[in-house]
Amino acid sequence: MNSYFNSRYSMVKDLPFAMKGDNPEKKLRLTLLIAGFSSILAGLYMVIINVSSGRNGVAGLYCISLSLGFYIAAVAFSDKLSKHLYIIVHALLLIIILLFLLDNGHAIEKHSEYNYLVALTVGSVLVLRQQSPYLSKIFPIICLVVYLFFISTGLTWQLKHFQFNIPQESGFYIVNCAVPMIALLLTAFTLRGNYSETDLIKRELSQAIEKNALELYYQPQVDSDKNLMGFEALLRWKHPAKGYISPEVFIPVAEKSGLIIEIGKWVMERTLQQIAEWDRTQYLGDLVFSVNISPLQLMHRDFTQETLLTLSHYKIRPERLKFEITETTFIYDQKRIGEVINHFSQLGVKWAIDDFGVGYSSLKSISDFAIDDIKIDKSLTLQIFKNESSAIVVQKTIELSREMGITVLAEGIESEEYFTYLRDKGCHLFQGYHFARPLPAPDALVWIKKAKI
Ligand code: C2E
Ligand code: CA
Ligand code: CA
Repeated sequence: MNSYFNSRYSMVKDLPFAMKGDNPEKKLRLTLLIAGFSSILAGLYMVIINVSSGRNGVAGLYCISLSLGFYIAAVAFSDKLSKHLYIIVHALLLIIILLFLLDNGHAIEKHSEYNYLVALTVGSVLVLRQQSPYLSKIFPIICLVVYLFFISTGLTWQLKHFQFNIPQESGFYIVNCAVPMIALLLTAFTLRGNYSETDLIKRELSQAIEKNALELYYQPQVDSDKNLMGFEALLRWKHPAKGYISPEVFIPVAEKSGLIIEIGKWVMERTLQQIAEWDRTQYLGDLVFSVNISPLQLMHRDFTQETLLTLSHYKIRPERLKFEITETTFIYDQKRIGEVINHFSQLGVKWAIDDFGVGYSSLKSISDFAIDDIKIDKSLTLQIFKNESSAIVVQKTIELSREMGITVLAEGIESEEYFTYLRDKGCHLFQGYHFARPLPAPDALVWIKKAKI
């Protein structure tokens, strides 16, 4: 009994935070609580008003909605949420229909009651998005049909028989009610599509970390003589049903949800573990391994200490590592970022600016930090033969970087033509499908074995 009350208490205590959090179940419970209390308050008010004006039948109806309010609020704390949801949504729909039919003492204002159905339709699309196809798709459509039926017929129950109240200028009236309602419903469905896709990725991604479904691939980076200089570690997520999911899809979700901290830690640990493994059996020379670091990860208070611990655990020289960050990192606390960069630089870790040429890249903004490399993004590289201004940007970037003592790596080298062009312009390092796609560890090892290190 005691544990029952404790679990209820912690549910109540947590609910206000559901506003901010990303837990859809908590959000649903909070919505139920709000809906329950609103029904209680609105029901109470309507009972008093109707009793005082002698409309006892309608007052009785509001008594039912009042009780339903208590029921909905109680369900917010129930363990078998989905079972109760079927009862709640249908009871709400039924009460609203009865309201349309019976609360017919006034003419023009009566139409305002149709708004309850708008709320129920759009609310159910959004709130029930995680529920069964019936609740999340069919029920809102039933609500829409009921709405369209009532606005076009104005059906009520009067003097023991049904009465139609077709609105004057019914064409205008129906179109003006139906079109916004359908637009609202479609918007809610579209929005929900994005939400639920993101929710789904988020949930599955956190399971993927636990179930070891993440993997690292390694893409070779070569110098102007095509000698192997290092690898970039790139994440792969092998989904049991959907196959490989691109990091372009799941990294942004991980960044938004904060999962990137855990993922980034895993990537660092796994890369260092892999280097240590290769190091035991293979001569690695001066190969450098690049790791992508998200801004949140870099800003995290434990980043420096945890990374240093992992480095010493696997006995890896810091010179073996290069951290790739994007320019957006610098919009965060510049002083702190500068300190982290300096700390690792002094130990021998290199820093590269990733995605150079995307957005507002400027060499000036990075000159304040101890940056060793810039990586010209593949989107810019792939434009050099198509777009003259891209070619000029690339050329000037290489010239300026060389003057500043910064190494330039061109990403997205897809053919020999790109390679020779960029090599002749002065680029130092190259990465792209022309040399190799990102490779699973055993294939990367083949490259290491072949390399003239
Ligand atoms: P990025 O850091 O710019 O990585 C380079 C991307 O370009 C990789 O895509 C790579 O497969 C692709 N690429 C390489 N050569 C070529 C080429 O010749 N042509 C074309 N069209 N593409 C090429 P990938 O592996 O899908 O990664 C996409 C992005 O996901 C990465 O872009 C990076 O921003 C992010 N990412 C991947 N792994 C990690 C990670 O461990 N941590 C973090 N924070 N982000 C990661
Ligand atoms: Ca990168
Ligand atoms: Ca890039």
